[in-house]
Amino acid sequence: MSEEQIVEVITFSGFDKALAYKVPDHAFGSLQVGSLVKVPLRNRSEVGIVSQIGTGQVIPKGKLKFIYEVINKIPALTPDLLKLAKWLGFYYNASPESVFEAMIPLPIRKGMDMKVEKLIQINPDASQEAIANLIKRAPKQADLLEFLKEQKTPIPKNKTLESLKISPSSCDGLIKKGLILETSQQDERIAYEDTLSKAEAVENTAHKLNEEQANAVDGLEKLIDEKAFKVALLHGITGSGKTEVYLSAMKKVLKDGGGVIFLVPEVALAPQTVGRIRSRFKVLGEKVVVWHSQLSNGERYDSWLAVRQGEARIVVGARSAIFAPIPNLKLIIVDEEHEPAFKQEDTPRYNGRDVAVYRSMLSNCLCLLGSATPSLESLYNVSIKKYHVLKLTKRVDDRQIPRIDLIDMRREKPRPNTSGIISNYLAEKLLTRFELKEQSILFLNRRGYSSSMICPECGHVESCEHCSLTLTYHKKIQKLKCHTCNFEKKAPTGCPHCKFPKIRLQGSGTQRVEEAVRNVLPHAKIVRIDADTMVKKDLYREILSDFRRGKIDILIGTQMIAKGLDFPNVTLVGLINADLSLHISDFRAAERTFQLLVQVSGRAGRGDRAGEVVVQTLTPHSPPIQYARRSDFDGFLEEELAMRKEFNYPPYRHLIRHIFKGKNAEKVEFYAEQWADHIDKHLGEQLEIRGPAPAPLEKIKDDYRFHLWYFVDSVTKQLPKILEHREKFPFDAAVINTLDIDPMNVS
Ligand code: ADP
Ligand code: ZN
Repeated sequence: MSEEQIVEVITFSGFDKALAYKVPDHAFGSLQVGSLVKVPLRNRSEVGIVSQIGTGQVIPKGKLKFIYEVINKIPALTPDLLKLAKWLGFYYNASPESVFEAMIPLPIRKGMDMKVEKLIQINPDASQEAIANLIKRAPKQADLLEFLKEQKTPIPKNKTLESLKISPSSCDGLIKKGLILETSQQDERIAYEDTLSKAEAVENTAHKLNEEQANAVDGLEKLIDEKAFKVALLHGITGSGKTEVYLSAMKKVLKDGGGVIFLVPEVALAPQTVGRIRSRFKVLGEKVVVWHSQLSNGERYDSWLAVRQGEARIVVGARSAIFAPIPNLKLIIVDEEHEPAFKQEDTPRYNGRDVAVYRSMLSNCLCLLGSATPSLESLYNVSIKKYHVLKLTKRVDDRQIPRIDLIDMRREKPRPNTSGIISNYLAEKLLTRFELKEQSILFLNRRGYSSSMICPECGHVESCEHCSLTLTYHKKIQKLKCHTCNFEKKAPTGCPHCKFPKIRLQGSGTQRVEEAVRNVLPHAKIVRIDADTMVKKDLYREILSDFRRGKIDILIGTQMIAKGLDFPNVTLVGLINADLSLHISDFRAAERTFQLLVQVSGRAGRGDRAGEVVVQTLTPHSPPIQYARRSDFDGFLEEELAMRKEFNYPPYRHLIRHIFKGKNAEKVEFYAEQWADHIDKHLGEQLEIRGPAPAPLEKIKDDYRFHLWYFVDSVTKQLPKILEHREKFPFDAAVINTLDIDPMNVS
């Protein structure tokens, strides 16, 4: 047996190490690094990826088993993507199975093949007698034969049977008898015209770049020409025309024969950006694949194949699009790079933005991060010259950045009939805009009607039976809901605890804002957008399109609509409560608040008329709010970085969060503490360890949770040490422990 007919395979589940298998002669030619195969493992059939042709190891002869089958003709992973997979598994401490499942779309893993279409025609060799006989006996089958006799070429089987209302089995009978011939042909793929593409009628004319934009594009083109791994941050204020800069950079890369991946936090929330990319490149004859969660398996397969074969060179999508098998990748763009949505919250817990940077390194290309409010990590990387920076400091056409009015809700009188939610000041502004026929947007980052039900007598708060969270009141359905586990129950009228007859609502959600605004402006057209109203797939796009056409006066929504949208007729934006994001137990609370204020105000004054922003708060003097009001990025950065440095938070250290959970609270606590003692004894000198402590959400879906933090200089250096100890530590099976690397959500 020759050396070449052995391959190494990483199986999805099983071992982290590659295993050697023999390849039957006939299959050898179709195997490459990255091919998906089925192999025998512990008496079962397992799916795996070929990680190497041949092997470096000495293998005892006769011990090896043959692989069972090669799943796809085209390897599922390119060599680069295989390297990326290995890194992902290591860095995010994720199993090969979870990594491969994240990277390879389901229809590919399942061995889906080209769409084929069956064609039918009269068998020219069939006896005329047999046909004549049949026509007499079976009228339905006769219809089909008569119809086929008229056709000059083979015709599609399914469509024909459908239109003639003939069952497939009668047709198959005729095929068996040899009267009809069946053939197949590969179907035309229309991957880039999926279900989402139709509704996005958007402007597609390029703008003449202004001076700042032109300078940014110039800088990017130089970086692209260096054909080396680079990261650049496009820091452009809201409305400064970042998209136009992205489009120019993309055009340049495509002209040079390269491919592009464009990441957005969520495809459904970026219809304008996606539409602009699609329409702009369509005219140039470029095919754009939009990678989103609503693709059918067939569409997903076709899209993947179109990309894999170099037919479509642009992929736009949310974080998983970073794994698109673009052959000659020359540019990765991450729009709204600061967004926590790029982080996947279950295994593999990767951050799409960070994977983008790593993949650019593997592909030796440019990674372009863009935002009006970049993350502190990226700004820090700019300050230490690791990243290049390009700035857009002015809005296009010199439009004004709107002024932020801070309304101190401790002093300002609330408007009557608004449950104290809306200040007189904001109500008056809303009225004026309505009279002027201009549009307004109101934000509150909390859905539902009211955030909790509390008894004024005994202080009892209605909370979830499965999570340590208060239940949110939803007025329309008269129910209390848990926004984490979806538990719901009928809302009580009196206190279930002390039987006091009247329980009180506390804290407001978007539903209550909607009610309050209706009381202020009974004649305005008001629409609310949040996770509760967005149950129908296309509703979001419909509402935005109605809003654009002026059919809606006031749009109320959660943070869901705070970013990226561009409506020229919006002249007033209100933030109902700026304090919500300040009081979360997250070291990024200030950063989040600053970003929210800047992004929210960025929605106003994008047309010819100047915009106004009203921010209601109980803490007008808190630094992030003050810095945002003055648009003082540098000031905020300086103060926040000093704080992060003092407490060793990112960007100065990487965080690893070790989560312990289980149904038995005592056990979870016990093992968290035992482990913490152990790791402190062994690694306490080398890494800073904090905890263990109950997680901010102590209980989720009946699981009790504890966490422990490691503050490390380098994940690559320190993680293996932690893992080495974890492997040997006698954890109880009832306590699940997971590592979250560079966590974004610390609840
Ligand atoms: P950002 O993403 O930076 O907030 P956009 O890219 O959405 O900004 O651009 C804001 C608006 O300005 C869009 O309607 C866009 O078409 C328009 N625009 C972009 N560049 C120019 C330009 N050079 N001249 C005129 N209008 C422009
Ligand atoms: Zn719950």
